[in-house]
Amino acid sequence: MKILISADMEGTCGVSSWVHVTPPEGAGAGEPANQTEYERARLRMTREVNAAIEGALAGGATEVIVNDSHDGMRNLIAEELHTEAQFISGNDKFFGMMQGVELEGISGVFYTGHHAKAGTPQAPLAHTWSGWLNDVRFNGVSTEEFGINAAIAGHFGVPVVLVTGDEKAVAQTQELLGEQVEGVVVKQGISTFAAMHQQPEKAQQSIREGAQRAMGRIPGARPYVLANGVTVEMEFDHQARANQAELLPGVKRAGERAIAFQPADGLEFNVMFRAACKLASIRMSP
Ligand SMILES: [Zn+2]
Repeated sequence: MKILISADMEGTCGVSSWVHVTPPEGAGAGEPANQTEYERARLRMTREVNAAIEGALAGGATEVIVNDSHDGMRNLIAEELHTEAQFISGNDKFFGMMQGVELEGISGVFYTGHHAKAGTPQAPLAHTWSGWLNDVRFNGVSTEEFGINAAIAGHFGVPVVLVTGDEKAVAQTQELLGEQVEGVVVKQGISTFAAMHQQPEKAQQSIREGAQRAMGRIPGARPYVLANGVTVEMEFDHQARANQAELLPGVKRAGERAIAFQPADGLEFNVMFRAACKLASIRMSP
């Protein structure tokens, strides 16, 4: 069995501030950046990914591919990665956080380092995709990366079977995708910028065990497939972003700050979502 790990960073044990997850060279004006804090966090992120790889291999995986899925997607420390895994790094990938799922023979997806969706109280660094996307809804059901990425994986017939992160990230993922998703909680959220963490080695041990259990869930797991004609809504933080995203063919306005479209399948959803994000992210000018 071949496993794809989509490795995010905010849900890593010990992470509770943007300082932990912002590469100093990529920080914008006014954004917090600290080389030491970031380096420590990316090492813990890499070790958590290694724990997931070890669990996957112990559970019967024959091949593991890791897709760096955070920020500029150059966070994993190559020299520290498990020798049996291949990894994808770099940004502007057609499938983004799900790059690799399109490869032949992927049996399951693991989410590591995951966070809760925008607006979730007492959830460290909760957000949806970017700081300016307030919500994404499938037929009115609110979601974030756990749903967006599951829909892309679902197009290729691949189920999500593991999520690691804070307890609200785990609960939200399981609520949408079902109990087929093995959850590993590495920290309890206290506020947007505070959490109570397990000791990192303990967290990594939990991830190792959870990943091995997740392998056993693959045979009965169902891919999350978007229905033909599903209504996807994207709600932004500002009406000007909706104005920009509305320029896409097939997109309608769905309120003051929201747009809607109806993709035929997960592949079309991926294209529409990414294009709308690119348009909406263009700096708003007067
Ligand atoms: Zn991230």
